[in-house]
Amino acid sequence: MKVLLAAFLALGLGAQSPATQAPAAASVPAWVALHPEYHASANCIFCKIVAGVAPSRKVYEDDRVVAFWDIAPRAPIHILVIPKQHIRSLDELEELPVETRAALLDACFKVAKQFGLVEHGFRVIANTGSDANQTVPHLHFHVVGGEKLLEDPITKPAAAK
Ligand code: AMP
Ligand code: ZN
Repeated sequence: MKVLLAAFLALGLGAQSPATQAPAAASVPAWVALHPEYHASANCIFCKIVAGVAPSRKVYEDDRVVAFWDIAPRAPIHILVIPKQHIRSLDELEELPVETRAALLDACFKVAKQFGLVEHGFRVIANTGSDANQTVPHLHFHVVGGEKLLEDPITKPAAAK
């Protein structure tokens, strides 16, 4: 019996060849599976920051949002406030629970206060989509201040045609 079994195995009859094996399930990184409620995108740099698998200089975090320094600050204070749940931008806001929407606005204010911006003013920007030149497709609010900011384009009169 043992001899028969050995021959069976030696012929490879007891195992599937690679060609007949079921294709491996698309591998989902462990950090994505850990919080399914975040709908994390494995290729999203901000989802990686939320999960702590990409570096960031976090300045605020609660159960719904994270705030961290922009990697290329354009003002003395330049913080990004993001939801832990991945949505690409404000155009998908309806997918966020209202509590998270409130938490985002609240975090913008908390960050402004934390960095002493409330007295002299600050700006909150959410570039949304291609016309607004959004570059990272995970909703984020820029909180910028700490100096007299340049006039923003929408407060200037439209250019003469
Ligand atoms: P936006 O152009 O409005 O989509 O802004 C994206 C912002 O994300 C830019 O200001 C970038 O400097 C910033 N950014 C991109 N990658 C990172 C990162 N890994 N950590 C922090 N900020 C980042
Ligand atoms: Zn994301």
